[in-house]
Amino acid sequence: MNLRFLGTGTSYGVPYIGCPCEVCQSNDPRDKRLRASILVEDDSTRLLVDTGPDFRQQCLRASVDCVSAVLWTHLHNDHIIGLDDIRPLSDRQGYIQGYGDAPTLARLGQIFDYIFVQNRDHGGFPRVTPHIIEPFETLHFGAIEVTPLPIKHGQRSILAYEFQKEGRRLVYATDCSHIPPESIERMRGCEVFIVDALRHAAHPNHFSLAQALEACEIIEPQRAFFTHITHDLPHAATEATLPENVKIAFDGLELTV
Ligand SMILES: [Zn+2]
Ligand SMILES: [Zn+2]
Ligand SMILES: [Zn+2]
Repeated sequence: MNLRFLGTGTSYGVPYIGCPCEVCQSNDPRDKRLRASILVEDDSTRLLVDTGPDFRQQCLRASVDCVSAVLWTHLHNDHIIGLDDIRPLSDRQGYIQGYGDAPTLARLGQIFDYIFVQNRDHGGFPRVTPHIIEPFETLHFGAIEVTPLPIKHGQRSILAYEFQKEGRRLVYATDCSHIPPESIERMRGCEVFIVDALRHAAHPNHFSLAQALEACEIIEPQRAFFTHITHDLPHAATEATLPENVKIAFDGLELTV
């Protein structure tokens, strides 16, 4: 099972528009962050998590010509608002299967009412078939099992995802401020744990770097990667402060699990 980070930035992206700070002006390519999204794939399946405002650019950059399914974590714009650009994929593949919780699919249906219309037999419109999913109900995509796990994002309960193949597990928990005990139990000991680490200062809807490290101590993954990063965290200098098995993700980073 392989993972590619399509985007690792907070909702502003990095650099922030018009910001003169050191990170936004950095020449390190790892300090250039599109909005948070990943691809998880094997030889026959390719799963896309979230379709934010950079979705088109991310597909072009990663040479994505088809997807097996789209999974959404939650309804915030930085995770959904690029969905219209799925049109070239649905022109080629027909209806794309999209999975999310009920609030996320309802929001997508409001914004993109033309996308979920079923039984269109031609291109010209993006075409997606929505599927409401429930926490802990495992989905099967080829040889990859996907289990949605509830996490808190401020007051909101949203979805993290566990991807499992041949007993090896990868967990993606972006936009996270608290992990309930039943999800912690499920995540514990996974091979790869990807988690929100917004910045140093506390935030009501996101883990700080210190809170993300605490979560790693509880979950004890083999390796951890932080994502949804603001311009408060310069890549190289921040990563140098972390334990050896914890890294800051960056756009284009690829892992094998
Ligand atoms: Zn976000
Ligand atoms: Zn900045
Ligand atoms: Zn969010």
